[in-house]
Amino acid sequence: MANRRDSLKTLALIGGVGLIKPSSLWAGSFAPKRKKLGIALVGLGYYSTDLLAPALQMTQHCHLAGIVTGTPSKAELWKTKYNIPEKNIYNYENFDSIKDNPDIDVVYVVLPPSMHRAYVERAAAAKKQVWCEKPMAVTAEDCQAMIDACKSNGVSLSIGYRCQHEPNTKTYVQLIRSGKLGKIQSVACAAGYRENRTDHWKQKRELGGGVIYDMGVYAIQGARLGTQLEPLAVKSAKVWTERPEIYKDGLGEIVEAELEFPNGISGWIKTSFAENVNYLHVTAENGKLEMAPFSSYSGNKGKSPFGEINFPYEVPWQQANQMDQDALAILNKQPMSVPGEEGLRDIRIVEAILESARTGKQVKIG
Ligand code: NAD
Repeated sequence: MANRRDSLKTLALIGGVGLIKPSSLWAGSFAPKRKKLGIALVGLGYYSTDLLAPALQMTQHCHLAGIVTGTPSKAELWKTKYNIPEKNIYNYENFDSIKDNPDIDVVYVVLPPSMHRAYVERAAAAKKQVWCEKPMAVTAEDCQAMIDACKSNGVSLSIGYRCQHEPNTKTYVQLIRSGKLGKIQSVACAAGYRENRTDHWKQKRELGGGVIYDMGVYAIQGARLGTQLEPLAVKSAKVWTERPEIYKDGLGEIVEAELEFPNGISGWIKTSFAENVNYLHVTAENGKLEMAPFSSYSGNKGKSPFGEINFPYEVPWQQANQMDQDALAILNKQPMSVPGEEGLRDIRIVEAILESARTGKQVKIG
C-alpha cells in the first residue's frame, strides 16, 4: 500500500488536471516587475470574506492588494483588517479607474453569476489579468464575449474551479488518464447541499440563480473529469423543485440529467439545493473509482482498484493552491490551466440540460 500510495502521490504531483489543452490566452505584453501579484477582489460576499481573503494570506505568489465593493462599511472593515491602502479601494462606479493602478495586476470577479460578464469585460478593458468565479456566466454567448474581451485586450482569463487544483482530484484524473482502469463504462456525479436561504441570488433567475449554475457545474466538471471526454448530448433531463414557494417560475432546485459520452459511455449527474450529495463514481472494465466527498473545500478523497487516493498529509487550501498556480502561470507567461474555454464548455452543457428538460427531447451539445 505504501508503494501504491507513493506512486499515486507522485502521480498527483506531475502535470495539471486540465480537461482541455489550455489555449494560448496568455498575453505577452504584461510584464509584472514584482514577484507577488496584486489581486483585487470584486464583491465582498461570503466567498471573498470566508475563503478567498484568508487564502490570500497563505499564498506565495500573490497577495490581497485591493477591493471593489458597493458597501462603504465593508470597505472600512477590510481596509483595517487587511491593511489595504485607500487608493486601492474601489466601488462599482469608479471601478474602471483601476486601469491606472499599478498595484493591481489581477481582478478577481466574485459577484453573482449574471454580473460576471460585465465585470470581466470592464476588468479586461482596464488591461488587468482576470480571474472569474464559477459559474463563468449564465449563457454560452456571455462566456464567449468574456473570452473575446480578454483576448482583444491582451489579458489572460482563468475560471475559479478550485477542484482542478486539488491534489487528490489530480491523482484521480491521472489514474483515469493512465488507462489502468481499462475501458470506462459509466460515470455518475452528484453535487448538492441543503440551501436554507430563501431570498438570495441563488433563488433569483435574473442574478444567475438556480442549482444547475451554482452546484450543477461541479457535477458537470466531475462527469468530464471522470471520463476525460466531452459529452456529445444530453439524452434526458429533469428540473424540479420541492419548495415552489422559494424556487419560483420553474427555477430549478433539483436537476438530474443523463449524458451521452463518446464510445458508448453513459453519464448521469444530479445537483440539488435540497440535500447534501457529493460524490464522483467512474465504473470501468478493471473496477470502480470512487471519490467522496468530491467537491468539498477540504477532505476530498477516493478509492480505486489500485488503492486509496488520499494524501497522507493535510492538503493546503484549494483556494490558495488555485490562486498561487494561476499567479505563477501569469508570472511565468504560461497558459492558464483552467481558462475561460473551460467555463464555456460547462455552460454549453448547462444550456443543453435546460433545453432538454424544457422540450423533453435529446439535445446535442455544441
Ligand atoms: P454572496 O451573495 O455572499 O456575495 C455576493 C456579493 O456580490 C456580495 O458582496 C454582494 O453585495 C455583491 N453584489 C453586488 N451587486 C449585487 C446584486 N445586484 N445582487 C446581489 N449581490 C450583489 O455570494 P457568494 O457566495 O460570495 O458567491 C459569489 C460568487 O462566488 C458566485 O459566482 C459563486 O458561485 C462563487 N462561489 C464559488 C465558490 C467556490 O467554491 N468556487 C464558493 C462560493 C461561491
